[in-house]
Amino acid sequence: ASLAALDTEVPPPNRTQNRLSPPLPRAPQAFRNEPDTDPALVANRVWGRGILERSATSTLGEATVAAARIADADRLDALVAAAAEAGGHWGHVPPHTRAELLDRVGEVLAVYRGRLVEVMASETGKTIAEADVEVSEAVDFAHYYAERARELGAIRDARFAPVALTVVTPPWNFPVSIPAGGVLSALAAGSAVVLKPAHQARRSGAVLAEALWEAGVPRELLTLVDLAEGELGRRLVASPAVGRVLLTGSYETAALFRSWDPELPLLAETSGKNAIVVTASADLDLAVKDLVTSAFGNAGQKCSAASLAILVGTVGESERFRRQLADAVTSLAVGYPQDPAVTVGPLIEPVAGKLARGLTVLAEGESWLVKPRQLDGTDRLWSPGVRDGVAAGSEFHRTEYFGPVLGLMRAATLDEAIELQNAVPYGLTAGIHSLDAEEVAVWLDRVQAGNLYVNRPVTGAIVRRQPFGGWKRSSVGTGAKAGGPNTLLVLGDWHPVPAAP
Ligand code: GLU
Repeated sequence: ASLAALDTEVPPPNRTQNRLSPPLPRAPQAFRNEPDTDPALVANRVWGRGILERSATSTLGEATVAAARIADADRLDALVAAAAEAGGHWGHVPPHTRAELLDRVGEVLAVYRGRLVEVMASETGKTIAEADVEVSEAVDFAHYYAERARELGAIRDARFAPVALTVVTPPWNFPVSIPAGGVLSALAAGSAVVLKPAHQARRSGAVLAEALWEAGVPRELLTLVDLAEGELGRRLVASPAVGRVLLTGSYETAALFRSWDPELPLLAETSGKNAIVVTASADLDLAVKDLVTSAFGNAGQKCSAASLAILVGTVGESERFRRQLADAVTSLAVGYPQDPAVTVGPLIEPVAGKLARGLTVLAEGESWLVKPRQLDGTDRLWSPGVRDGVAAGSEFHRTEYFGPVLGLMRAATLDEAIELQNAVPYGLTAGIHSLDAEEVAVWLDRVQAGNLYVNRPVTGAIVRRQPFGGWKRSSVGTGAKAGGPNTLLVLGDWHPVPAAP
């Protein structure tokens, strides 16, 4: 992809960063979050529609995926060895120089917005709005980690001792922002990266890698590999040359990686079973809106998604609340992203296993407030559902489904609601809707989750403002959230240099 070709793309008009800046290094600017494309502007809707039309037949990234395909162990070993050697040099490059490269990456990612949205919509069925926020987050990761590298580099008498090589294995549900976060944090910390995109989102990973190479990230520092997730995957992850593995995926995948090597230097953000508590003091209109956003954005395929609403006291009896929730859910437009009216897109794969149960099988005492329906012959398009009467300790209470189904539970008191919210193996996101400051204070003190949200949706963490990461089984081997002040500290093994005698 040449930059000349990109320049002919009409940029959305509500941003100024869409042209590449001159190649002269510019003074670093204070970090600010990249704005999403504003669909209220007609010109942006025209821009989006063009992208969606192209997405139906898009082949972006295909050639790069083909070039990155690896079928034999020798080739994989050679790539890993070359990357580790390059990383050894990169670790000695001063942090402010690494930061310059990351700022440049942020600028180029902004130029790539249209292509990244196109490939995500084409490959995973993401709606334009859901794909657009990913690009903003990727841009944010670049500039934010650049800023952190500069800050840390400015501390005298301390040094990064980065690992030479980081393997990044992202999921398919955030096929641009999550790999961008992993790759850019590792590069900022001074490590080379091997990126292995999820097989369902390999073209999105390829276009992301193209953007980084175009921005000047040397090929040896970012190696894209496309391999079958069997023996070659194990060989990559467990390679002795690999200093760290950054996984975002299911808890089961983290456990699989650990089974390959119990000593694996793994940092993983994994599954969630997330609930929003709604108390009698809540603004119920807002609670309905935020529940719908949190449960059904990206068709529920987010590890941050709400899959339980815990209704406290009279809220559980409120007919008005139930009717409003049912109306809001049934009026969501479900379809393929090429129709710009759609807000709930298709599932990544035909439903099977536990998600099939979550969408169709009720336990004793449960009933459908809104019954999910399969909308076409593909088994990928399901209208969202709400099940009522989920009991404490039931399968639905404790299982992550990763799809468009929300369960309602009831609690007599806030204390009981918090107990239900905490009584799951995971602790990724958690929300409360309450206008009572005392209730909120009690909840904040006792809830067990990495990301807490008051009177807003539980999805959509924002770099620096709300770094993202979990607690309990939602986090394996880490503690530093993505997009927060500690990420580079953890990755870089930051340590003081002993004073000269
Ligand atoms: N960071 C995303 C959010 O806050 C979730 C990432 C995930 O689902 O893995 O919604």
